[in-house]
Amino acid sequence: MANQQYDFEADFVVVGAGSAGCVMATRLSEDPATRVVLLEAGGEDRNRWIHIPLGYGKTFADASVNWCYEAEPDAGANGRRIFWPRGKVLGGSSSINGMVYIRGQHEDFDLWRQLGNTGWSSTDVLPYFKRAQHQVRGADEFHSTGGPLCVSDTSEHHPICEAFIEGAMQLGYPRNDDFNGARQDGVGYHQTTTRNGKRCSTAVGYLHPVRNRPNLRVVTGALGEKILFEGGRAVGVAFRENGQPRTVRAAREVILCGGAVNSPQLLLLSGVGPQDQLAQFGIPVVHHLPGVGQSLQDHYSAPVKLKCRLPITVNDVMQSSVKKLKVGLQYYLFGTGPLTMAAGPAALFVRTRQELASPDVKISVAPFSSDKLQDGLHPWSGFGLTVYQLRPESRGEIRLKSANPFDPPAMFPNYLATETDRRAIVDGLKIGRRILATPPMQHYITEEYQPGLSVQTDDQLLQHAKNTGGTVFHPTSTCKMGVDPMAVVDPELRVYGIEGLRVVDASIMPTVVSGNTNAATIMIGERAADLVRQPMRMAA
Ligand SMILES: Cc1cc2nc3c(=O)[nH]c(=O)nc-3n(C[C@H](O)[C@H](O)[C@H](O)COP(=O)(O)OP(=O)(O)OC[C@H]3O[C@@H](n4cnc5c(N)ncnc54)[C@H](O)[C@@H]3O)c2cc1C
Repeated sequence: MANQQYDFEADFVVVGAGSAGCVMATRLSEDPATRVVLLEAGGEDRNRWIHIPLGYGKTFADASVNWCYEAEPDAGANGRRIFWPRGKVLGGSSSINGMVYIRGQHEDFDLWRQLGNTGWSSTDVLPYFKRAQHQVRGADEFHSTGGPLCVSDTSEHHPICEAFIEGAMQLGYPRNDDFNGARQDGVGYHQTTTRNGKRCSTAVGYLHPVRNRPNLRVVTGALGEKILFEGGRAVGVAFRENGQPRTVRAAREVILCGGAVNSPQLLLLSGVGPQDQLAQFGIPVVHHLPGVGQSLQDHYSAPVKLKCRLPITVNDVMQSSVKKLKVGLQYYLFGTGPLTMAAGPAALFVRTRQELASPDVKISVAPFSSDKLQDGLHPWSGFGLTVYQLRPESRGEIRLKSANPFDPPAMFPNYLATETDRRAIVDGLKIGRRILATPPMQHYITEEYQPGLSVQTDDQLLQHAKNTGGTVFHPTSTCKMGVDPMAVVDPELRVYGIEGLRVVDASIMPTVVSGNTNAATIMIGERAADLVRQPMRMAA
């Protein structure tokens, strides 16, 4: 490729404008002398439902902003294919996610450090969580103000969420008003990545305010097809812009921010991965790296769905034109009401076994219900709990299906593959039901719609989880950081065996964090920006 002609050049080429990619492009272009190109396969984030929090339901399966992947049939889900939405738009999945702001547990990052990842302990990463953040409550030991990512309290204290919190407290679980503070245990409201009732994606918080920097070029509708190499060095990216083949040269580095599905796919398409898989698709091996696409983790959840005694749920709003008009007006006039709601406004973080050092299960409550969110809400008053294990042991993989960059890769989640994982989800469902049996919750319940009271034994509960569960959309670790033979990047996020190439997104997590993954991915972007800039500053 030494004589390759490029369409244009930058110092850094960032592939993917998602949670991490927008952070990288924004931070690296702070230096006016550094030229940054940001390639994004999706388009501008103009769809209005992106910006209205409850519009989450509208973008959930909208192929104009979403890759709408489906995982391969999975034994843990009794052979079903699980729907895997991922953002395909500026902001990536932070433009279509549920906006729940959870960082994970301090123990998660201390484990990363314990696995050999210098610089990633809980004390190391805290400054990066804080640098990202604008906490509306003000600054304290764990939070800060002035960052691009606005973290707000929910204005909607729905009666069903209040009853859930009250019921859990009656069972002895502590109230927790800050899941991202000293400890995660307990029950309370989530904070959300919103600002004044609107979604704060990384496109909104980071990228848009700096779009006019002359040293930053954002190319939408640009699918990265292949990393270009000279010898063992990444020197550019071949991509397709609205169908036209283009190339961009990276004078310093190529940085992959395509997320846990697409970053391993692009590495594999480019010849970096397990050599037997590359050979299967006739892809020349640039570097044999066995861990690419392996070590996949995800949070698998099981639901409990209830019929509600009173017409107070979001389902009821959606059934009535008058109510829809009322909540629409409330939102546009005051920026409050049900349209400001995140995916699951309140939650309990709980240990299913006393001997555990920290919670292993999360149970969240939402004042709406559906069979499948992509098919719309139930036509009756309903609400639901979602139960998931925070630190699954099961690991799956992402593999190519073909050498065509336009074909999605195959996702094998391998859910509930270990006894610990099966035990945790069953025990979590039982705790959820105990909360539902408390007087504050019983006040609202006419009937348990799913799994239904005929389902009682542990085995029946497990079958319910396998038959009806799904992802809570947190795939990670497919290009995991580490110092072991299956690691793809080192603790500075450099791809092993290749110069000038990093991966910076959720795929580098050595283990999935105990909770939602957006905040930790943004932290990864903030820390990676420092890792990239440090040697440049020292050389200057
Ligand atoms: C429906 C849903 C709900 C969620 N809810 C929450 C929540 O409430 N709270 C939370 O913390 N987390 C949530 N998450 C998870 C969280 O949003 C993700 O973990 C996080 O956004 C991942 O960030 P990323 O940078 O790794 O990837 P992404 O944000 O997915 O970004 C990857 C970007 O790269 C682009 N791209 C991919 N391949 C290419 C290519 N070849 N060329 C060019 N561009 C490419 C994609 O289009 C995308 O824009 C949710 C996710 C989803 C999908």
